[in-house]
Amino acid sequence: MLNFAVGPVMMSDEVLAIGGEQIPYFRTPEFSRVMLENEQAVKELMGAPDDARVIFMTGSGTASMEATVMNTLSGADRALVVDGGSFGHRFCEILRIHGVPYTPIPCESGRVLTAEALAPFEGAGYTAFLVNLGETSTGVLYDLDLIADFCRRNHLFLIVDAISSFLCDPLDMRAAGVNVVITGSQKALATAPGISVICCDRTAQERIAAAGVASLYFDLSAYLRDGERGQTPFTPAVGILLQLHARLSQLVRDGGVRREVERARERAMYFRRQIEARGLPLRPFAEVPSNAVTSLVPVHEGISAYTVFETLKDEYNIFVCPNGGALRDRVFRVGHMGALTTADYDTLLTALSELAAGGRL
Ligand SMILES: *Cc1c(COP(=O)(O)O)cnc(C)c1O
Repeated sequence: MLNFAVGPVMMSDEVLAIGGEQIPYFRTPEFSRVMLENEQAVKELMGAPDDARVIFMTGSGTASMEATVMNTLSGADRALVVDGGSFGHRFCEILRIHGVPYTPIPCESGRVLTAEALAPFEGAGYTAFLVNLGETSTGVLYDLDLIADFCRRNHLFLIVDAISSFLCDPLDMRAAGVNVVITGSQKALATAPGISVICCDRTAQERIAAAGVASLYFDLSAYLRDGERGQTPFTPAVGILLQLHARLSQLVRDGGVRREVERARERAMYFRRQIEARGLPLRPFAEVPSNAVTSLVPVHEGISAYTVFETLKDEYNIFVCPNGGALRDRVFRVGHMGALTTADYDTLLTALSELAAGGRL
């Protein structure tokens, strides 16, 4: 099996081996040390300020998106959300459910956010800004510098969902003045799904302390308190946290975030160049693509992107990522996260060439 989806992704042999082991009891000094080292490594890889704190939430990325909104925003805020795809919609949905007033900044599917689109919201009384740095559903990477400048000028609390962008696209939390960065275990961290990560700067920690959130499991102040000694309020996904420990140690050892982003970029560029070199009838969908994923549109009339996904799965045992909704038959995506090699991309490209030769692409 080859998996080019945008999560879960292919895991290294080292991470896979940990997944096959028994799970140890976790209220121990040994496990606390693992957690504190995980926190330190995440901070380093995100370029977080020294006084930032990291929460490891047992739950997928959406759990951390929701927990962040519940614990750092309230009915007294006015939030702006970049709404250019299904993950932008998800933030809107979460804000609506939790009674946080918000305005979506509409962004055409596959297109970037522009300074012109932001201009009407300048000095307009907003307090917070939420963006999915990589809008994984369309493959677009938004301009963090543009957003960071806007937030600085307007004193906005900035929440960045970097669930697919972390380790794939440049992100320096301190330089961009980001207050919260969210990521997940099953994307470029390339471990099993089930853990998501919330990195909170000092301001975010203050908002969490003041929130008094009406939830037991999603009260982040309890995670911050127990995290000081490397523990969590409830039983975490211990096995995944051990996988993360191996993966984070490997990342720090192998050149850190800059080198890892470069590796993702190399995989993405190789695949994109080969599509052109082989003359495959596919065109890119994203105006500015993230290194995490390539979104592709079959150019020939009558070819369904969803059928391409199904054929690759059923006949080749290869997963690419289908789209939903209005893009279902138009767009499919190929991920560049996880333990994928040039040879793996060649296998996929050969399969795509065969489909093209048979009139099925
Ligand atoms: C994968 C992803 C999520 C989270 O999805 P889960 O299925 O809840 O893990 C959120 N935002 C982005 C941008 C993602 O790529």
